[in-house]
Amino acid sequence: MARKSTPQPNLGPHPRDVRHAGEFRRRLLRWFRRHGRDLPWRRTRDPYHVLVSEFMLQQTQVARVEAYYHRFLERYPTVEALAGSEPAMVRESWAGLGYYRRAANLHRLAQEVVRDHAGVIPEDPAVLVSLPGVGRYTAGAVASFAYERATPAIDTNVARVIRRAFHPHLRGRGAERTLWATGAAILPRRRGAAAWAFNQAIMELGALVCTARIPKCGECPVRSACATGARTRAGG
Ligand code: SF4
Repeated sequence: MARKSTPQPNLGPHPRDVRHAGEFRRRLLRWFRRHGRDLPWRRTRDPYHVLVSEFMLQQTQVARVEAYYHRFLERYPTVEALAGSEPAMVRESWAGLGYYRRAANLHRLAQEVVRDHAGVIPEDPAVLVSLPGVGRYTAGAVASFAYERATPAIDTNVARVIRRAFHPHLRGRGAERTLWATGAAILPRRRGAAAWAFNQAIMELGALVCTARIPKCGECPVRSACATGARTRAGG
């Protein structure tokens, strides 16, 4: 009897269909080991510390966040300390960083984690995304940077790199879904240090080399595995 085929949702490319994914990954990781910046939140896997850094880095430059990050964690060293403080105090500690909604969300998140998760920040992105102020990117970032899960974390910088490297003609509806699917396909398969480093590295490449206005293809470590880089190399 012929098997009835079930329509499959379009989840984007399978890993083996992403051209040059292996080369891209190897080159990116090698470059990051040598050129990745030594940032305080890259020295920790503490989920609370990672979460604080991610909230601060939304809409604020790395250089500005560094000082605030240390000060905030001195004042609220644990998720319980933050949960138990007054909203006005938290807002005051955020003074100068702007976008105060982030502080309010972080405070509510801490209270929810203490109340509903026994003070443990969840590691599953599907659970993280239900917390106040946590979108799909932040959920992936915390899962990856704190728990080393092999899950994509696609912010503006990462989306730009993936688009240029693998989908230079991607436009319109479904583009975001394709970027996330490719982001998942090019990740190291298993959780662990390589998954952590890959997500840090692709973010770093977007921040330092594959920059928004003019990508520095001439000095890019993944150029040979990049659709856009190959075109510019060929003079196209
Ligand atoms: S080769 Fe150019 S476009 Fe491709 S990832 Fe590098 S900087 Fe970006």
